[in-house]
Formats: sequence, structure tokens, C-alpha cells
Amino acid sequence: MRYAIFGDIHGNFDALEKVLQCAEKEKADEYICLGDIVGYGAQPVECVQKIKELGCICLAGNHDHAAIGKLDIDFFNLYAREAAVWTRTALGPDEREFLNGLGFVEHLDDFAVVHGSLHGPELFNYISTIFDADLSLEALDKKILFYGHTHIPLTFFDTDPMTYTMDGEIPLGDGTRALINIGSVGQPRDEDPRACFALYDDSDELVRLIRVEYDVEKAGERIIEAGLPEALAVRLQLGK
Ligand code: ZN
Repeated sequence: MRYAIFGDIHGNFDALEKVLQCAEKEKADEYICLGDIVGYGAQPVECVQKIKELGCICLAGNHDHAAIGKLDIDFFNLYAREAAVWTRTALGPDEREFLNGLGFVEHLDDFAVVHGSLHGPELFNYISTIFDADLSLEALDKKILFYGHTHIPLTFFDTDPMTYTMDGEIPLGDGTRALINIGSVGQPRDEDPRACFALYDDSDELVRLIRVEYDVEKAGERIIEAGLPEALAVRLQLGK
């Protein structure tokens, strides 16, 4: 089975479309969305409708909850807060209902998926350090955890001592457990502006993080035209 696992779309429909086209070309059998469909970008409705149409497993991200008033945005930074307020008015009842129905964790064959971390999925904690990774590994009873939230593709291996890599090819044939951050479709933060998603083929036990070119300028123009902060357009170009 080939799984296309993606998330942190953030209302960037230009990027989402290209990622889905690429996943189709790569012959993905199943699609899994790790949340943050909306927030920051100018096309949240299009993104929610597309995910709904796919009918795939989809989890809740903090921005999805912020956009429907399920999460307090006082702790968001200024731009995130502005974008959340804008997104709230952009969404219709259908999109709100969809976002409201999303869960926090799914367990599949040999892997689990979550937006932020496994040691408190509903708190949207980050896995940024070895300490965080350790907590999520303790909570993981599968071989692999796919997660997002930081927008930085980074893999932690359950070795002693723990190791990590930012490689785009992650072989898992030796049975080592791993926490794999799948990067971000719509707002990458690793200084590579291309969209990112993961392709997991369980027959050859290989995960590939695939980068996809899309019209970054167009997505930025839409942000400015929508009246969202210009800084959100600039960061797309920079990939941070
Ligand atoms: Zn996000």
C-alpha cells in the first residue's frame, strides 16, 4: 500500500493541488491529512472542500480549531491571530461543520498519525527536541508516527542514544521505530519554499519526503489581495 501523508496546508490551494497531482502520479492508494487545512492562506474554503471531496482520513490541527472558535487564539502570534480572525469570516457552515468533526489521532496498520504530538494530541504540543520525541515514542505502540505542526521535515529514530535526520529518504527495513515529520504543504519553514509531503510504501518499508514546485508567487498575491498580512506572502517565498 502506498500512502500519501500530508498536512499543514494552511489555506494554500495552489500548493495543495500540486501535491495531490504529484501523489496521484506516484500512484498513492490512500491519502491521509494531518490537519491545519486552514489559517494563513487565502483559500481555506477551497482547501476544506478538496479534503472533504477526497474522503480521506483527516485530523484536526490547531489552526482548524482556531478557525471555528474551538481554540483560544490569545496565544497565537500577531499574524496567526489576524489570519485566524480572517479565516473565521471566510468559512461557511459546511466548512465549519467539517472542521468540527475532525479527530486527533488515528492508528493504522503499522503506523499512527497525529497533528502535533502523541503525548497530548489535543494540546497540540510540538515535537521539536529529543525530549519531546522521547515522550511521543513512549506513547507510540506502532512502528512509525507521522506528525506535522512544526512545518519542518525532521525524523527521529528510536535508537540509543536517539538519532535524527533531515534526509528526504527514510529506510525503515531494519525495524527501527521512527517519528517522521512530513513537512508542510502550504507554508514550509525549512527555507525550501516548495510544498512537502510524505509517501510511505509499506511493501518496501521506505518513506520519501517529496518536494513539489507550485506557483508560490500566485499564492502570495492571493494573500495580499485578500487583505491578509503581507508578511504571510513574503514568508512563502522564503520558506520560513
Ligand atoms: Zn501548521
